[in-house]
Amino acid sequence: MRLSIIVPAYNEEKNLFKNINGFNKYLSQQKYDYEIIIVNDGSTDNTWQIASELANKNNKIKLINIKKNKGKGAAVRQGLLSASGEYRLFLDADNATSIDHIEKVWPYFKEDYDIVIGSRSPKDAKNAKQVLPQPIWKKFLGICGNYIIRLLAIKGIYDTQCGFKAFTKRAVKKIIPKTTINRWGFDVEILALAQHMNYKIAIIPVSWINSEESRVGIKGYFSTLKEIIKIKLNLINKKYKK
Ligand code: UDP
Ligand code: MG
Repeated sequence: MRLSIIVPAYNEEKNLFKNINGFNKYLSQQKYDYEIIIVNDGSTDNTWQIASELANKNNKIKLINIKKNKGKGAAVRQGLLSASGEYRLFLDADNATSIDHIEKVWPYFKEDYDIVIGSRSPKDAKNAKQVLPQPIWKKFLGICGNYIIRLLAIKGIYDTQCGFKAFTKRAVKKIIPKTTINRWGFDVEILALAQHMNYKIAIIPVSWINSEESRVGIKGYFSTLKEIIKIKLNLINKKYKK
């Protein structure tokens, strides 16, 4: 199978049906084989019921159920590891970065990159933009957070948090089992490990459509800061096994 897409979902009952059908419509028009893996991350609304209905009607849609909410990082990790595609992409259930961005990814995989990530920052990729921008406080905390991320863990990437990242099967197998972070710091950990292991990372510009119903509150920024410090300590103490 060529492509697996992994969609973490926490209380996404409003968007899930429409967006999964949209992903499926796009992918069914492509020439390659694919699967869509929905990872229900302990939702307390009807996400699981909706996901089950979708999977019953379409054998390309597969489900993973995490009983109690663990965080996006944990959900994406399980999805990436249980996928069977040669290429594996995770993206958000609210369609903030549309699936057709995958077209910009393929040329990099052809060129032997193992990781291709989306960015909302023009500093990473010309033409990146937030069509419907995040609220100003999020942009501000995002910029401060990114400064700390670049200071401590990652070189030269200005948007590590965009929810659109694609990997070769090989990169998933080498990197993802080493990851330890379950919530928002997961993206930073993947990229820090990838740089540490000398993987080449390509960046594509995305058009981000912000959804008001974010699950990232102000508290999320502080807990992510703690996760970033943990990643730094893990790197210093050589906790990530070769
Ligand atoms: N998500 C998840 N577990 C969580 C929080 C979020 O699986 O504990 C999923 C969520 O359903 C969505 C993605 O992670 O598919 C990004 O979440 P959200 O849209 O709230 O983030 P934002 O757009 O604010 O970055
Ligand atoms: Mg969102």
